[in-house]
Amino acid sequence: MAADTIFGKIVAGEIPVEKLAETERVIAFPDIAPQAPVHILVIPKTTEYADVTELAAGDPALLAEMVEVAKRLADEHADGDFRLIFNNGAGAGQTVFHVHAHLLAGGLKEGSL
Ligand code: AMP
Repeated sequence: MAADTIFGKIVAGEIPVEKLAETERVIAFPDIAPQAPVHILVIPKTTEYADVTELAAGDPALLAEMVEVAKRLADEHADGDFRLIFNNGAGAGQTVFHVHAHLLAGGLKEGSL
């Protein structure tokens, strides 16, 4: 279970963001500290899942929906190719414990991680 996080506040509308995509269960908005020409966060609206392992176990269809939204955004904002990164756990750099995908696209270096 995700604790009260900044992304929960964004979902609740308490912190305004530029919504780049929205479905019944998912929203996407620009990362505040972009690491690539296109850097968008794709998150489920539910606060139930802290990380991608919890989400994959609990609601794989919702994880698939996040990937679909990411693909649509990569088509809209770049050439359709993209990297999707889930930091899983503090030791891997996760700082917000409301599961989120980093969608990176546009001018990525071939072969780099
Ligand atoms: P992670 O380190 O994987 O947990 O990613 C958290 C991400 O959330 C970081 O890339 C931050 O730049 C981003 N972030 C934090 N607060 C906000 C915010 N208010 N709006 C957009 N992105 C944010």
